[in-house]
Amino acid sequence: MDMGTHLFVGIVTATVWPHLSHEQQIITVIFALLPDSFEWLHQMVRKKENGHNHLSVNDYNKLASHIGGWIMLPYIFLHSLFAPLIFFGLSWIYDWPMVYSLMWFVHLLLDLPSHKLKLGLKLWWPFSQKRLHGFFDWWLAPFFRGWELWGYWAILSVVSVILIRKFW
Ligand SMILES: [Zn+2]
Repeated sequence: MDMGTHLFVGIVTATVWPHLSHEQQIITVIFALLPDSFEWLHQMVRKKENGHNHLSVNDYNKLASHIGGWIMLPYIFLHSLFAPLIFFGLSWIYDWPMVYSLMWFVHLLLDLPSHKLKLGLKLWWPFSQKRLHGFFDWWLAPFFRGWELWGYWAILSVVSVILIRKFW
């Protein structure tokens, strides 16, 4: 999903999860976004290949050869089941709040239905190359490409500010 949704889910979870310190709430929100932390790399490649920011289905197909290469390795790893499992293990060992790895897992759950074509999640990577194809690619959906996105983000921002001011 889009960064706004991931951010919002992180803020809501950090608000309702019991007994988190301020610092842990912030880390919880960061973990909701972490799987997409290499997005800048994809944007760079897209810009270089496209010369503009408006990614159409055709542009997307043109990029397919690059999107399948090494550039996608961090993305594929961070969107596989093993990334949250590693953090789950680390949380077990170091006694970190379980909400961190849960946030990572929830990020994958949100991405599963919203990644369809070339970026369908490889949940079982590196043991299997099989891609799971969701229902739509969120970044190609008109809602996420028009003014509606800003309205949607504005609503999420207002609710987030209220939650943080009232409960954090
Ligand atoms: Zn993602």
